[in-house]
Amino acid sequence: MSDTIERIKCLIIGSGPAGYTAAIYASRADLKPVMYTGMQMGGQLTTTTEVDNFPGYPNGTDGTAMMEDLKNQAERFGTEVRFGLATAVNFSDEVGGIHKITIDGTKEIEAETVIITTGATAKYLGLESEERLKGGGVSACATCDGFFYRKQDVIVVGAGDTAAEEATYLANICNKVTMLVRKDHMRASKAMVHRVNTTKNIEVLYNSELDEVLGDNVVEGVRVVNNQTQNKHEIAVTGVFIAIGHTPNTDIFKGQLDMDDTGYLVTKGKSTKTNKPGVFAAGDVQDHEYRQAVTAAGTGCMAALDAERYLGSLE
Ligand SMILES: Cc1cc2nc3c(=O)[nH]c(=O)nc-3n(C[C@H](O)[C@H](O)[C@H](O)COP(=O)(O)OP(=O)(O)OC[C@H]3O[C@@H](n4cnc5c(N)ncnc54)[C@H](O)[C@@H]3O)c2cc1C
Repeated sequence: MSDTIERIKCLIIGSGPAGYTAAIYASRADLKPVMYTGMQMGGQLTTTTEVDNFPGYPNGTDGTAMMEDLKNQAERFGTEVRFGLATAVNFSDEVGGIHKITIDGTKEIEAETVIITTGATAKYLGLESEERLKGGGVSACATCDGFFYRKQDVIVVGAGDTAAEEATYLANICNKVTMLVRKDHMRASKAMVHRVNTTKNIEVLYNSELDEVLGDNVVEGVRVVNNQTQNKHEIAVTGVFIAIGHTPNTDIFKGQLDMDDTGYLVTKGKSTKTNKPGVFAAGDVQDHEYRQAVTAAGTGCMAALDAERYLGSLE
């Protein structure tokens, strides 16, 4: 049951690069956006120390510091940033209809437009050593962090298309890539398996699982277990890339918004429009292909422009 109701023009759900960029554009267009940050204020980049590939930072930057910059920029133009979680939604089917969003189970927001930027969460194996060494050599993003391991030996865990892509990407930069595949075959498409098998510096270990990441503060190696023989052996590496997939943060939108079969929100054509008029989606929540801060920011900009044009078309 809601204890307060507030009517606004534009609600932004999520505070990653997509959310803050949408906020910058929406507030400059006088949509007076209100943003709810979710539990991870600043989004996924706050879990990494070095961001080297976001344009405008010639010497790289710290993920948390970069997200603080984006927040300050959004607030400078009047975005109201609030800590809170969208817990339920009821989107209107009508053009010009009012969308209802419950925050933290109690407060109700009525919004003319909604920009969803709730991102996706990388899956990890759940090992204590993996958790401890995140940012110290354990990563879930080869495009983001591969460069830090150039000319070094790394491990990729996974057997699908993403793992195969990450392995071939890393093979161009690193000395050697060892792939750990749990089964006796890869799940990736034939074409990707062929690419892996014909890349000289990729070795695939089948029936193999990551038993432990070795190292105190930085990765020094891994212990691998063969799940058929239970034999264990160690491999010296400096980077461990976990490529077992992502989960889009879309549970609360189930039954309301169109999703693909893995739960990513579906947007129309080149726009950020969802199947509900006035509801837009940007960033990783609708993109399982690129998953980069700059692409998330780009679609965040698009979502704000789409929202502004939608409101303009109602006048
Ligand atoms: C370890 C790591 C390192 C990375 N390094 C780089 C890099 O160097 N360069 C690069 O370009 N990319 C990097 N990435 C990828 C990049 O972080 C993502 O592509 C980007 O953050 C996606 O932005 P987003 O705004 O779509 O969502 P996210 O950053 O995922 O943010 C989602 C936001 O939604 C909020 N949220 C979720 N559910 C709710 C809810 N119900 N209500 C309210 N809010 C909610 C969360 O709190 C969060 O604020 C890295 C990713 C990881 C995990």
